[in-house]
Amino acid sequence: DLSHGVALYLDDISVSFDGFKALNKLSLSLDVGELRCIIGPNGAGKTTMMDVITGKTRPDAGTAFFGQTIDLLKLREAEVVAAGVGRKFQKPTVFEDLSVQDNLELALKSDKRARATLFFRLSATQRLRVEEVLEQIRLHDQAGRRAGDLSHGQKQWLEIGMLLMLEPQLLLLDEPVAGMTDFETDRTAELFLSLAGKHTLMVVEHDMEFVRKIADKVTVLHEGSVLAEGSLEQVQADERVVEVYLGR
Ligand code: ADP
Repeated sequence: DLSHGVALYLDDISVSFDGFKALNKLSLSLDVGELRCIIGPNGAGKTTMMDVITGKTRPDAGTAFFGQTIDLLKLREAEVVAAGVGRKFQKPTVFEDLSVQDNLELALKSDKRARATLFFRLSATQRLRVEEVLEQIRLHDQAGRRAGDLSHGQKQWLEIGMLLMLEPQLLLLDEPVAGMTDFETDRTAELFLSLAGKHTLMVVEHDMEFVRKIADKVTVLHEGSVLAEGSLEQVQADERVVEVYLGR
């Protein structure tokens, strides 16, 4: 039962590249339905952490569980996706020549658990899911539009929508509002707040105004481990965090 408890549990994770510790005994856990922001200077280990969660990088040591029972370190990348982890990289990667709706349908058809749908028409439930996601990402009036003609922000929402088609329990999002207009950023904040609860979100973000809008809890990474954790106000008041951001 994932309706309570821990969605993601990382303990003592270490990753070295040629002796350099990109992650150094990193421990972090997310509750089910939580919206957590991850901040930290360049090189802090944020990307490496996401790579470990998604099976792209194997740690030298440590534990990583998805929910109570799924040992992430035993799964390959595709199996992590199938288990319910969706990852969004910074740059949008939608199929530019397809319509918004076709992009969403394609995401559904790419689901390994439902491969048969490649050859069949969408079921009523699936059509409903497309409608639901179009509403969530606020592209319901753009369903027929060529994805390549969308604004940068709309492309990012569409890609989030493509992840949502697979109903992931955990969403990992890397700098989702980079390059967005203020209006798009506000809408993205609303979207994330509406997704929290139903999904667990881990958002890596540098835009502190955006973080302020969405996060209950912020984790600051530095030199491969957790430097501070708490509300944005708490971590911003932490001397060690101030020092890291201002440089020594
Ligand atoms: P962040 O995402 O917080 O900027 P990264 O996880 O990308 O940090 O990187 C952490 C550190 O590990 C950086 O110093 C980076 O240069 C190093 N690193 C990341 N990936 C590799 C790799 N494949 N080979 C060597 N060094 C790497």
